[in-house]
Amino acid sequence: MGTLTILTILTTLRFLVPMLISCVNSSSTPRRPARLGTAACAQFREHHVFSYDLRSRLAPGQWSRCYKECNGPHQSPIDIRLNSVQCMESGEEESPIYVWYRRHHGYARGSFLNNGHSCAFSTHNGDVRTYGKVLRNVPGQEGADYVFSELHFHIGANGSRSGSEHRINGKGFRGEIHMVHWKKTEELRTYEKGSEATDGLVAIGIFFNVVRRCHTEADRLILKYVYHARRYEAVKDPAFANPSLLLPADGMFYTYKGSKTTPPCNTNIIWIVYNTPTTICHRSYRILMALQSAEIGHPFLRTFGNDRPIQSKGTNNVQANFLRCD
Ligand SMILES: [Zn+2]
Repeated sequence: MGTLTILTILTTLRFLVPMLISCVNSSSTPRRPARLGTAACAQFREHHVFSYDLRSRLAPGQWSRCYKECNGPHQSPIDIRLNSVQCMESGEEESPIYVWYRRHHGYARGSFLNNGHSCAFSTHNGDVRTYGKVLRNVPGQEGADYVFSELHFHIGANGSRSGSEHRINGKGFRGEIHMVHWKKTEELRTYEKGSEATDGLVAIGIFFNVVRRCHTEADRLILKYVYHARRYEAVKDPAFANPSLLLPADGMFYTYKGSKTTPPCNTNIIWIVYNTPTTICHRSYRILMALQSAEIGHPFLRTFGNDRPIQSKGTNNVQANFLRCD
């Protein structure tokens, strides 16, 4: 992401601040959300406005008022029910399918930006050849290159014990890290083009628990970068992230075709959700909870969280790479 792109984002964010505040502060007591007109929706869509405040006109259950796909089938996140998880064909080698990054030790260069919903790392697309991390061996997409593009964190409101978006047999974790990748082919050479294609995006979900010791790559990213971008619109640039170091060592994951968990809820995403959680330390968790929104000093993650509720509409065929078909 270049300086120009960052400036464009900042300008856009500045414009949507008043809308977001009116959205978040739409009432002081719970009530039925007011109707949203076509013009208001068009503006919300243009500036990608949505909320996790349950009293807001654009609370998660209301997103589909402006973003139709959010009410469609194959939405994410889901509760992975183990008794319905299917086996995976393992290919010629008859070994489980593992995903891996080319240049394991290389770091992606990018920026952290507090966008009012999370503090997200985005890569500088122009630097793919020099710093980019490319994900390989995605189930059903063997041979395809998926370029690492974004990383962000999800937690629940008020320090919730189940702030992860996905669940396993109803069990949530303290939070979840998401890493987004776009498909790169001869024709698809940018994030925008790659993300429009069928199977154009791969999202990796990694659960985390909270422990005393700060020692993971997630801790390093939060303590080194997120801490300095805790105020709304703040950017930490440059930043360097290595998604290889975040993947749980046992490589066990579930995979299914789902959607973005934020509007516009596009359904061209291959999800890879790891079974084994990683950890972040209490200090890191407190930094996530203290992230501030457009309202001065308002800790939006502590108050509202940023975990979309479980979606159950439509079927999602979940497979596990550690369950081999005989
Ligand atoms: Zn996410």
